Amino acid sequence: MSSPGIREIVVASGKGGVGKSTLTASLAIILGEKYRIVAADADAEAPNLHLVLGIRDWDETIEYYEGRIGYINQDKCIKCGYCYDACRFGAIEIRNGTYIINPWICEGCYTCSFVCPVKAISFKRDIIAGHIMVKHRTPYGFPLVSSSIRPGRPNSGKLVTEVKNRGKAILRGEGLLLVDAAAGIGCQVISSLAGSHMAILVAEPTPTSFSDLKRIHKLTRHFGIPPALVVNKYDLNHEMTEKIRRYAEEWNIDYLGEIPYDDKVPGSIAAMKPIIEAYPDSRASKAIWKIAEKITKILENWEDWRLKHLPERIEPFIPLIVKPGEKHPSRNT
Ligand code: SF4
Ligand code: SF4
Repeated sequence: MSSPGIREIVVASGKGGVGKSTLTASLAIILGEKYRIVAADADAEAPNLHLVLGIRDWDETIEYYEGRIGYINQDKCIKCGYCYDACRFGAIEIRNGTYIINPWICEGCYTCSFVCPVKAISFKRDIIAGHIMVKHRTPYGFPLVSSSIRPGRPNSGKLVTEVKNRGKAILRGEGLLLVDAAAGIGCQVISSLAGSHMAILVAEPTPTSFSDLKRIHKLTRHFGIPPALVVNKYDLNHEMTEKIRRYAEEWNIDYLGEIPYDDKVPGSIAAMKPIIEAYPDSRASKAIWKIAEKITKILENWEDWRLKHLPERIEPFIPLIVKPGEKHPSRNT
């Protein structure tokens, strides 16, 4: 790398199931031969990078505490029902005439406690919201940090930030943090992108994937992150691949390459081995090696590449406010 420090590279896609984790696992192995690397699974709701890497157990499992849950003191409750009407998450239930808070749904927003006339609602703080898991040495040498949020717990984005922080702590100031982001553009993805240095966007040549690519690309512009692009299964729709390629050109996204459809990939996933290990001579593996070579060149000429692909302008965040009774602009019906 051109200068010491930690480089955070996020592999992201607006759409799930486009081969993001498969690519991340193989890139981690290849780049790990040259750099100190930590892989981070930033999908706290559906972590799977460890499965692609063949990891069945963890060296460390750390409890993650976060948030609060309301509960009703039944001795004080006068059963007025104000809290039931006020909770917009539907977390308050009536069972046998008693008002109770469902801990799986409660977001700890305090609203119910403001409307309760007899102060019957209290909160439990710092509940276990999930776990952070660490494998100090994967079968391929580098460490992996992952996490798992408990069902119904909010703030999975905060947990992703913790995962990244732990990865950075393991790197101790220098190396690559390769982050496998969740699908979509939700809070977990935002936490994955925040503070990162490069986004590798992964798309498939389908209208839905192309549409989602534009959405995730917009998010990278909002964070001012230079983007690169990989098209997976590019040969399934050459016309659409060409459209995506032109989009990359138009927006100055570094087009890292294309991975062909390869029926060896499902076999590698079933064997819990990254494709470059399971089938090193496969077409997909060869394409991934070429992509990794390009990334290595980028890291060697980091500052030049960064300046060349920095978004021209920061995409502003414009909140969309839909008032009661108004139609959501993105819905046609
Ligand atoms: S704290 Fe918020 S989410 Fe939880 S029960 Fe009260 S109003 Fe509902
Ligand atoms: S607002 Fe307070 S008193 Fe009324 S039902 Fe809820 S907990 Fe009970």
